[in-house]
Amino acid sequence: MAAGIADAGRLLRSGETTASALLEEALDTASRTEAQLHAFLTIDSGGAREAAARADADFADGVDLGPLHGIPVALKDNMCTRGVETTAGSQILAGYVPPYDATVVERLRHGGAVIVGKTNLDEFAMGSSTENSAYGPTYNPWDLSRVPGGSSGGSAAAVAAGSALLGLGSDTGGSIRQPASLCGVVGMKPTYGTVSRYGLIAFASSLDQIGPFTRTVEDSALALSTIWGHDPMDSTSHAGEYPDPTAALGRGIDGLTVGMVTELSGEGFEPAVEAATGDMLARLEKAGVGVVEVSLPSFEIALSAYYLIAPAEASSNLARFDGIRYGLRVEGQTTEELMARTRAEGFGPEVIRRILLGTYSLSAGYYDAFYGQAQRVRAAIQEDFARAYDQVDVLVSPTSPTVAFEAGARTSDPLAMYLSDICNIPANLAGHPAISVPIGLDDSGLPIGFQVMAPPLGEQMMYQVAAEVERQAAFVIAPTAVEMAR
Ligand code: GLN
Repeated sequence: MAAGIADAGRLLRSGETTASALLEEALDTASRTEAQLHAFLTIDSGGAREAAARADADFADGVDLGPLHGIPVALKDNMCTRGVETTAGSQILAGYVPPYDATVVERLRHGGAVIVGKTNLDEFAMGSSTENSAYGPTYNPWDLSRVPGGSSGGSAAAVAAGSALLGLGSDTGGSIRQPASLCGVVGMKPTYGTVSRYGLIAFASSLDQIGPFTRTVEDSALALSTIWGHDPMDSTSHAGEYPDPTAALGRGIDGLTVGMVTELSGEGFEPAVEAATGDMLARLEKAGVGVVEVSLPSFEIALSAYYLIAPAEASSNLARFDGIRYGLRVEGQTTEELMARTRAEGFGPEVIRRILLGTYSLSAGYYDAFYGQAQRVRAAIQEDFARAYDQVDVLVSPTSPTVAFEAGARTSDPLAMYLSDICNIPANLAGHPAISVPIGLDDSGLPIGFQVMAPPLGEQMMYQVAAEVERQAAFVIAPTAVEMAR
């Protein structure tokens, strides 16, 4: 198997491989691993074979559409694909076939990418384990008794196993970085507003961001350069400059300062995770980076603020699923009864919990005490970040306090599940970019991720540091529980 997107690109252009061969390898891996992993909800082998044949014809004609040309890609199933079922992991959207492509999908197609299929996720991206999918869970390719993380667990598992060289996920409160960490791949959430949300099924619109899962840091930067850019169809789309994410990759990190976040360590963090993080900081210091500890006190209450803001926005976004317009319809005597029955049957328990929490916190009389207060915390987080970035170039932490946990271990304890994203949520609330890079394994052979956060539109420097972390870690993606691409 190609080592990644950049490597496959070289092989494609030198004629050593073809897009069709890369695709067949991906499909073959999927056919050998899907019974154990369940990373995909839909595999579109017909559409993918056509796209691969087109890419090969392009290369034969000397047409080059850029770094994703001919690359097999897996899409989280909350991104609309014209003519291919899109469920968001929910029963309420069973059978929904979008009449249009999300902007990211359009960008992938223009860039000649080959879309292999749609991947599993927690229903409406609510969760940290991919166990909340209405279509059954995904399992971790490093240990089939464990979760892949979530909510983009399907894309993370597919890239780790080699059923795709690029996966797209969405990250509202950690849903790219946490599964990347648990599956031992690179996962990145860009600056809010830089990747269009048009055609992404909305969870919490002020937080949702699409981003890539890849096998290398360079691949992540290459993927970002194709999927990001201004889109008039998304009112929050960034209209200014988009710096070349690959520009600083080879530069080394001598002279930069890295801040380790005090609040993202200690209680709740596994010793193996803390040891690997400390070891990486020591290596970075040796490589010429200044390492300091920085306190961002508001991080302690970020999770609470997130669990008011995200459900509030979700309760509004999910009002459109009423049995009238899309997907499932359960008939009733009156329109109201039809809507109530459709929603009661169509939504799973976690989604219902979020809608109830959100509706409650937005209701008159509680609005200021809950939602208003959470917005003030959000502002405090932004201020803490700004103060920290006066002293340091990037902030770092573990990506997840623990390695992949056992399937079922947190399903009956929502708070334990919510704590999975404690390291990730501040960057969402501030709208900043952040990446997870795999740096090692614990004693049971489970991957550990390292998070690098950067100021808004600081993707170049984030990738510069992430590339050095990757070089120092020399991590090998070889999930032991599944037979990978040969
Ligand atoms: N685990 C978090 C939640 O359940 C984050 C989900 C996400 O980023 N989509 O809300």
